[in-house]
Amino acid sequence: MRPFTFERATTPAQATAAVAARPGAKFVAGGTNLLDLMKLQIEVPAHVVDVTGIGLDQIERTTEGGLRIGALVRNTDLAADRAVRRDYGVLSRALLAGASGQLRNMATTAGNLLQRTRCPYFYDTNMPCNKRVPGSGCSAIGGFSRQHAVVGASDACIATHPSDMAVALRVLDASVETTRADGTRRVIPMADFHKLPGNTPHIETELQPGELITAVTLPRPVGGVQVYRKMRDRASYAFALVSVAAIVQRDGTGRVALGGVAHKPWRVEAAEAELPRGATAVMRRLLADARPTPDNTFKLQLADRTLASVLAQARS
Ligand SMILES: Cc1cc2nc3c(=O)[nH]c(=O)nc-3n(C[C@H](O)[C@H](O)[C@H](O)COP(=O)(O)OP(=O)(O)OC[C@H]3O[C@@H](n4cnc5c(N)ncnc54)[C@H](O)[C@@H]3O)c2cc1C
Ligand code: SF4
Repeated sequence: MRPFTFERATTPAQATAAVAARPGAKFVAGGTNLLDLMKLQIEVPAHVVDVTGIGLDQIERTTEGGLRIGALVRNTDLAADRAVRRDYGVLSRALLAGASGQLRNMATTAGNLLQRTRCPYFYDTNMPCNKRVPGSGCSAIGGFSRQHAVVGASDACIATHPSDMAVALRVLDASVETTRADGTRRVIPMADFHKLPGNTPHIETELQPGELITAVTLPRPVGGVQVYRKMRDRASYAFALVSVAAIVQRDGTGRVALGGVAHKPWRVEAAEAELPRGATAVMRRLLADARPTPDNTFKLQLADRTLASVLAQARS
């Protein structure tokens, strides 16, 4: 690990000022992703600002009837929250499908959104990787690509986003609230928060350097049967090959987002009009632009079958 300096912030303003004052500085929350990346020298911040003491750890009702989830709320607490379990079941289920109990006790809402890809070449510093070293090439293209993206990828990067929680937030139409060192605040819809790789796969979100996530907001509950189904190589402690977050209403309408297939949670609202006609009709539109590799073509059928199973569960 490279030497770095460390400080604990006590307010959001202090945290953003501390990061703005030192180029290349980073926030740390639960540390379950950042510290691993620092040990491998994939992330090498010169200064690390601990944000776990700045508050932002409450879940509150919004005046619109939704929920405001503080950026520092731990994944365990969010999954167990009574209002989340009752009104946003897909979110609670997605969180519980991720990582392990110990990791969820540390992991935070903001950190989960900003966790980095699990592409094995990203972690292997002997191999070219455009995300780790822009312009160096992509080892996964033509390499081992079973876990990689089937849609929305580029010639520069075919990595997937690993978060389960983010897929549920996308299907729930959540928004991300932020603040910057100059005091300006923004609200970024989840649809726009994560980016596709294009020619700049190292730029993964809409956040500017030093921008602090303060909360994630959920709109009013939409009801329906809410399911999160994660397909993976082991029954626990494994990232998704394909996951389906679905909200299905009594009349057969609803919403669907996929995890494990793209550089961001994958949702195409127009495809949801096909829900009453069944999974294959939805997938035809949802994955219309799919370009799988020979290693991961199986994900198309897996996504179709997983959604079919989810719809059958929802209707029963
Ligand atoms: C073995 C293992 C298995 C896992 N399995 C899964 C899984 O199946 N599904 C899944 O979804 N996840 C999984 N994870 C990932 C885990 O969920 C993430 O590591 C965790 O959510 C990150 O949260 P954190 O608070 O620890 O983030 P940190 O490691 O503290 O930070 C991550 C990033 O977020 C930034 N950051 C943190 N807080 C803020 C803020 N408020 N504003 C702006 N930037 C901020 C940091 O600078 C850093 O870049 C796994 C992790 C491990 C180690
Ligand atoms: S898929 Fe993306 S993260 Fe993986 S090696 Fe290629 S550029 Fe790097």
